[in-house]
Amino acid sequence: MIYDLIIIGMGPAGISAGIYAKRAELNVLMLDKSAPGGLLNIINNIENYPGFINVSGPDLAMSFFNQVNGLKIPYKLEEVIDVNPGDIKEVVTKNNKYQCKSIIITTGREARTIGLKNEDKFLGKGLSKCALCDGAFYKGKDVCVVGGGNSALGESLYLASLCHKVYLVHRRDEFTADKEYIDKVKNTKNIELLMKRQVVELNGEDYLKSVTLDNGEVLNVDGLFTYIGYKPMTNFAVKLDLVDDKGYIEVDKNMETKEKGIFAAGDIIKKDIYQIVTATSEGAIASINANKYIKSKK
Ligand SMILES: Cc1cc2nc3c(=O)[nH]c(=O)nc-3n(C[C@H](O)[C@H](O)[C@H](O)COP(=O)(O)OP(=O)(O)OC[C@H]3O[C@@H](n4cnc5c(N)ncnc54)[C@H](O)[C@@H]3O)c2cc1C
Repeated sequence: MIYDLIIIGMGPAGISAGIYAKRAELNVLMLDKSAPGGLLNIINNIENYPGFINVSGPDLAMSFFNQVNGLKIPYKLEEVIDVNPGDIKEVVTKNNKYQCKSIIITTGREARTIGLKNEDKFLGKGLSKCALCDGAFYKGKDVCVVGGGNSALGESLYLASLCHKVYLVHRRDEFTADKEYIDKVKNTKNIELLMKRQVVELNGEDYLKSVTLDNGEVLNVDGLFTYIGYKPMTNFAVKLDLVDDKGYIEVDKNMETKEKGIFAAGDIIKKDIYQIVTATSEGAIASINANKYIKSKK
């Protein structure tokens, strides 16, 4: 069988693309290597997605997945390991090969970890990788931010507007962020800079209570935000030469890559704002334009 469209990844971007594809009556298949919902499955609380005042990530993932099932959108839980371009494209998983006219890649990205032993345990319980998402839970409290780039400094400024105190820990003696951010951080009273320092231990029972630095100092903080970079999930897109030097897929305003009929959406693409609401809207744009591409080939 030749599918009209194969969507790789069933996070917010992929599921949104699937909903639009099914409603356009495309013969679509969705593939995910893990639980549908993507990163939603690891988010404690979401308060910035329209329609939900406060929802747990797994509950929102389930709502998305219920819509997939309600619309009877075909999906399979298989990891994609390769994509071959052409008029008829091939999507290769660990066990199967599928043919299709168009592809939307929505495989997202992984936050890099510091490499400490309790990181998994505290993720969502004091340890976060997204101040915009989780900052409000730490209003009036003390938090620690790790990193020295634009994300770390930008998010420190955001957290400083909410929190009592922000410790900004950076392993070098200079930041790599833009001067504008550095100046603002240095002039913000409730941000304390701890240069040439590293977090070496995370402490607490169920929730994070403090972090230990490499000089033995213990910071009593309720939250730790790490910004040491993300790793886009793009092995096959690298082979197709669709990515920038950081591994993000480059798309035009229609979410189309330079390979005709191959689209991408969500956290996997090169962009400025990495949120659920942007991922779902890009998924919709990719799907509508994939449909136009498929119709143009008939
Ligand atoms: C801790 C944390 C908290 C956050 N909180 C918020 C928040 O409060 N509000 C907000 O708007 N945003 C939040 N975000 C950001 C938000 O989760 C992402 O922007 C959003 O999930 C991106 O959706 P996506 O579909 O592009 O990617 P993802 O959600 O990452 O989904 C990608 C999917 O692709 C699958 N996949 C990957 N590789 C393959 C492969 N080779 N084969 C098959 N499947 C594959 C994965 O299994 C996954 O299901 C948070 C992020 C984190 C890490």
